[in-house]
Amino acid sequence: MSVRYDIAILGAGESGVGAAMLAKKKGLKAFVSDAGQINQKYKNVLSDHEITWEEGKHSEELILNAGQIIKSPGIPERVAIVQKALGRRIAVVSEIEFAARYTNARKICITGSNGKTTTTLLTYHILKSAGFNVGLAGNVGKSFAWQVAENDFDYYVLEISSFQLDGMFDFKADVAVLLNITPDHLDRYNNRFEDYVESKFRIARNQTPRDAFVYFRDDPVISSYLEKNKIGARLIPFTGKNDSHCGAYIKNDSTFIININADTIEMEIKDLSLTGKHNVYNSMASGIAARLVDIRKEVIKQSLSEFENIEHRLEHVAMVRGIEFINDSKATNVNSTWYALESIKKPLIWIAGGIDKGNDYEPLIPLVKEKVKAIVCLGKDNSRIMNTFELLVPVILEAESAEDAVKAAYFIGKPGDAVLLSPACASFDLFENYEDRGRQFKQQVYDL
Ligand code: ADP
Repeated sequence: MSVRYDIAILGAGESGVGAAMLAKKKGLKAFVSDAGQINQKYKNVLSDHEITWEEGKHSEELILNAGQIIKSPGIPERVAIVQKALGRRIAVVSEIEFAARYTNARKICITGSNGKTTTTLLTYHILKSAGFNVGLAGNVGKSFAWQVAENDFDYYVLEISSFQLDGMFDFKADVAVLLNITPDHLDRYNNRFEDYVESKFRIARNQTPRDAFVYFRDDPVISSYLEKNKIGARLIPFTGKNDSHCGAYIKNDSTFIININADTIEMEIKDLSLTGKHNVYNSMASGIAARLVDIRKEVIKQSLSEFENIEHRLEHVAMVRGIEFINDSKATNVNSTWYALESIKKPLIWIAGGIDKGNDYEPLIPLVKEKVKAIVCLGKDNSRIMNTFELLVPVILEAESAEDAVKAAYFIGKPGDAVLLSPACASFDLFENYEDRGRQFKQQVYDL
């Protein structure tokens, strides 16, 4: 009979190692297993805390004998070890689900296809500015479990992806925020958009009327789901239209209002530190969440106007010879690129492409026709972008490196133009990840 662990943890990245640390703290015997190679930094942490680990394999007899399994979000449910565990009715949960069992902190939980990190950081910034004892976790920074093990926060702002939601069952958000739902990651959902939508709505699971569900009412997918399904929480919609029944709305195109518990915040859109229509929505969501935990208006207004933009999201890089360079490398799907194209008012040289996750570029056509004077494709296989846009845009070029792409864009650009890296695709064909792509792009701009 092999050793019996309380918990087997699949995947030894930030969330897996954080879960192991929390398990240890709670006196649970944990075993960490990673089919790939574990980062040295994490190996050291595990060994220093006398937590057993393995890499390059999954030892079935140990994992399937454990009391429960915590699965890292990057591991798809279809992998053999997970299927076997489910077949034996072993509970397979996410690190977020596990960590939540050990904290009484109030949780503001943010999900959506796009805008999660921005809204999470913005909300955290407001709570911090208000002097709250608050942690930032989930998909950003240090894992939730790790922080629950080491800190004693009263509040958490959590960025939650659909993969994490899939492993959440008893978890309850005090404030849940759903920003939007557009097709993404469908490869993990058997190419069924309905399954992905269901996954996103797990953010509202277990909520009661004492909790709040904040959502973007203009999103057709969210609205039609809500027509057919009941949510237990108090519903707080926000909108880009003028509708005072919403928790946040826009008046006269220039002012936005947050109206929660009969208390109103009014703010000029031009005073928001983040630009672009999508960031008005993100700011609304953050402002509502902050009001729901009773933060004062002045703090909210000031925080929304002072927040500093984050790297790789419509990040202004430099002006060179009158041409503005913008890094939106984080735009890895069509919808996020739509907002980037929408938000920039200058004639554009658009750098796009990479690994196409079955993209439909059609929604971009009107904006591309209106604004884009040249496309520089930055991917190994650019055929889909070329086919969609070749008759619509006067110049389409291909580049195989950040250097070639930046030089080509610079060559085409005229003073008053903007060069926008907003790929609508994943980066792994030519880069390590989107951060690497964004940094290489910026370096090439600085070297011009
Ligand atoms: P996520 O964490 O969900 O990937 P980010 O906040 O990192 O989202 O933003 C990723 C990209 O998505 C940004 O570069 C921006 O172009 C776009 N984006 C941000 N907020 C929104 C939104 N509310 N709706 C649509 N697109 C958005």
